[in-house]
Amino acid sequence: MRIVIAGGGLGGLTCARVLHAHGIDAVVCERDASREARVQGGTLDLTVAEGQWALREAGLEAGYRAIARPEGQDMVLYDSAGTLLRREVTPDEGEERWGRPEADRPALRKLLLDALPEETVHWGHAVTHAEPLGDGRHRVHVSGGETLDCDFLIGADGARSRIRPLLTDAEPAYCGAHGMELVIHDADRAHPAASALVGRGSFSAIGDQQTLSAQRNGDGTIRVHLTLRCSEDWMESSGIPFDDPDRARAALKELYAGWPAEFLALVDATSGPLLAYPLTALPVGVRWENTPGVTLIGDAAHLMSPFAGQGANLAMRDGAELALVLAEGGDVRKFEQVMLERAEPAARMSADNLELFLSDGAAEKVRHLFAKMFGEED
Ligand SMILES: Cc1cc2nc3c(=O)[nH]c(=O)nc-3n(C[C@H](O)[C@H](O)[C@H](O)COP(=O)(O)OP(=O)(O)OC[C@H]3O[C@@H](n4cnc5c(N)ncnc54)[C@H](O)[C@@H]3O)c2cc1C
Repeated sequence: MRIVIAGGGLGGLTCARVLHAHGIDAVVCERDASREARVQGGTLDLTVAEGQWALREAGLEAGYRAIARPEGQDMVLYDSAGTLLRREVTPDEGEERWGRPEADRPALRKLLLDALPEETVHWGHAVTHAEPLGDGRHRVHVSGGETLDCDFLIGADGARSRIRPLLTDAEPAYCGAHGMELVIHDADRAHPAASALVGRGSFSAIGDQQTLSAQRNGDGTIRVHLTLRCSEDWMESSGIPFDDPDRARAALKELYAGWPAEFLALVDATSGPLLAYPLTALPVGVRWENTPGVTLIGDAAHLMSPFAGQGANLAMRDGAELALVLAEGGDVRKFEQVMLERAEPAARMSADNLELFLSDGAAEKVRHLFAKMFGEED
């Protein structure tokens, strides 16, 4: 069986790796020109039942343990006046208590790529579209004119999937907020105050309809995220020069005027490019009729905002589970039902959390949410 996977993100690579472990070598068409073509984003906490389960199925549990950072679960939560609302320090047996050790996305991606034959990923192969050949097989069109025919096609190509239209008309819609990512390099040495504020894990400050957060990564960087409620055309209408990061940084700080200076110093400590993006999501509870020979996984199937911290975990679980179904000649229709049922509560939680974190008076609501999560009286 010739399998083509569109997209070499965590979902697609996990799928390819589990297939490989079962003697099936798929082809992964990846838009990026090479492994190093794009900075792959920050740290992810992998859940036992999803991300960690998938890596076990991929035979990569030991590799994961080597890159996992349990202490990355430490967190501090402030309001925008600088009041500390919550501090969590990972106990020595942290993994047992919370079970979601952090791992850097680039390290996870490397773990998966290193465990695949070199020729699996076809770099610089952006899928433009795919068409059914009428016998359950599909023809995949790649930019530059190349085509690949396959017996089974997996759309793992993320938010703007080119495979999704084969299965559903559902499209991502704007969630009413934008996110921005900036990076502090060499944090401990060059920016000790920022480093101390963030600690071993993450820092979050919640204002009215806007948040400022920062996460330590395993490579000495700290990733700073700003999220705010705004109109869909905000990147054009705000007048912020996003192509000029230094001026953009100054303009962004004005949006956080009145916040504690030590919090805004996190933004000052960043350097290099600024990544800004609208948050989008597919409708909660998306479903489609099964079509033989093709399916979707991960963000392509059930894109949600990052507010539940589940997207990568689900993508990896989807990828591993689908690989097992294909390797064992199982029922893809049943796989799709289970996948979409699993994703629905996470998508709903993402949507609800986005509303809560970006509401007026959000800090107190978020403090309450954490107390509830930790089973405390509040
Ligand atoms: C700021 C932020 C923080 C997040 N934090 C977390 C978290 O803590 N925990 C968590 O679980 N999730 C988190 N997520 C969500 C998570 O990043 C995604 O859900 C996850 O990456 C989805 O994996 P995927 O493999 O389905 O898609 P992607 O990671 O989007 O991978 C898709 C791949 O397909 C490639 N591609 C795209 N189009 C094409 C094409 N036409 N042809 C070929 N290749 C293509 C892309 O280059 C990419 O490599 C976060 C997201 C954001 C934005």
